[in-house]
Amino acid sequence: VRAARGSRYATALEALRTVYGYDAFRGDQAAVVEQVISGGDAIVLMPTGGGKSVCYQVPALVREGTGLVVSPLIALMHDQVEALRANGVAAAYLNSTQDPSERLAVERAYIAGELDLIYVAPERLSNPQTRALLQRGSLSVIAIDEAHCVSQWGHDFRPDYLALGDLGEVFPGVPRVALTATATRETHREITERLQLQNAQHFVSSFDRPNIQYRIEAKTEVRKQLLQFIRSQPDGSAGIVYALSRKSVEQIATFLAGQGIDAIPYHAGLPAEVRAAHQSRFLRDDGVVVVATIAFGMGIDKPDVRFVAHVDLPKSVEGYYQETGRAGRDGEPSVAWMAYGLGDVVQQRRMIQQGGGDRTLQMRQNQHLDAMLALCETVSCRRQNLLEYFGQKSDPCGNCDTCLEPPKTWDGLVAAQKLMSTIVRLDRERGQSFGAGHLIDILRGKSNERIQRFRHDQLSTYGIGEDLSEQDWRSVIRQLLAMGLLTPKGEYNTLAITPASAGVLRGETPVLLRHDVIGRKSRSAIARK
Ligand code: ADP
Ligand code: ZN
Repeated sequence: VRAARGSRYATALEALRTVYGYDAFRGDQAAVVEQVISGGDAIVLMPTGGGKSVCYQVPALVREGTGLVVSPLIALMHDQVEALRANGVAAAYLNSTQDPSERLAVERAYIAGELDLIYVAPERLSNPQTRALLQRGSLSVIAIDEAHCVSQWGHDFRPDYLALGDLGEVFPGVPRVALTATATRETHREITERLQLQNAQHFVSSFDRPNIQYRIEAKTEVRKQLLQFIRSQPDGSAGIVYALSRKSVEQIATFLAGQGIDAIPYHAGLPAEVRAAHQSRFLRDDGVVVVATIAFGMGIDKPDVRFVAHVDLPKSVEGYYQETGRAGRDGEPSVAWMAYGLGDVVQQRRMIQQGGGDRTLQMRQNQHLDAMLALCETVSCRRQNLLEYFGQKSDPCGNCDTCLEPPKTWDGLVAAQKLMSTIVRLDRERGQSFGAGHLIDILRGKSNERIQRFRHDQLSTYGIGEDLSEQDWRSVIRQLLAMGLLTPKGEYNTLAITPASAGVLRGETPVLLRHDVIGRKSRSAIARK
């Protein structure tokens, strides 16, 4: 592609080589750059680390005028602009952190046509003064970064993004490119509609990370399972272990360190200097395992992370994908391992119920959780399920636990009926409801103080579930919760049936359950105990 007259680089490739020092474009970059340089709009869906910046920066350098970059990451703007300047790019930004004199200098430079790129926070663009300013100069391209922020249902929704829809009318003839790493079909559609990009060309990169092996197992004794998993990895493997709370981060880090693993904690409650020290140890030394809350990882570019482990269930498939995606950026074999259990499902459903928010929000959050649970409980290829979520069709991968060791299934209808009818009896006959532990005691015919006190040994369902172990019952309950055939109720995590349970009680809805896969090594560890 040849450059416009007056621009600083003759071709896109020359800009890429001179400014960034790369030899060639990667993936969809060349095609996106060509589309935008020739004046067309583009929607770019590319995983994190895929190289989105080049897609709009190179066109901005090759076309005449200044490239406008809309970005919500105000905290990163300064660093981004400094990095560009260090490469000889005339870049500047406008945001609320600047004092008036700085702002004026940037505005003047823009009007004088001295800037290659100008970064602007989205809230500034709904301001008529900013628009008037931009009209006084000339734009080469408009890039809308983190474009999924326009999606009202995503976790990153920014109302200011809705005001970006008319930029095409305000700046006719200026090509627009929207970029994001969040690629669900739903988000993709919303970006197209709300940003008025009906004429854009769509560039959807593969979201597959073939070198990452996905493994999800049932939680029994999570610390032991985690330890076994880490010990099964090559010596000196660097990894990240994600836990939900600061407390469990601390506990797991202490436990692993006590077992001779070079593990250190990282969460927002630690003093800044400790966090910085732990982060730099992880980046610098070999074989460090960071146990962290999800606050850890953003902006951390360590290519040789060999595994990412989750000891708590992520809230969504997007979150899971982002977090596991921190493994194996160097393309070498890596593992994404997770253990999840009944408690995770109950806890997350409850957090949604009690989290406030209107019905629609709760519905969306439940859908996100449902998709995550579907990934956990699938009997077919995990990668296929994951990529399908991002709208990508694929064949079974041969590099995930379900491909390597296909899970066996069993007919869980009768078990589900036994459980549900116990719940229904307790509720209808006695107005009581109980959590998983007590229900399992009733079904297995246990005799203990609570059973005696409530006279639950008198129930007709007492002891009808002795054929299954306590572990089996936990698995049944977890899977029924995942399928929406049970739901937690009230503040004590008691279990209730749902409208969908009726079909099971009548024997009309089939209930196909998977035998839990527990890592072979951890299974023997449990047996040994
Ligand atoms: P994203 O914004 O999609 O997460 P970046 O634009 O930050 O990705 O790029 C990710 C990494 O890939 C950066 O380290 C960048 O320098 C590198 N990169 C981008 N394009 C190329 C290329 N064509 N050749 C080599 N490295 C590239
Ligand atoms: Zn697979």
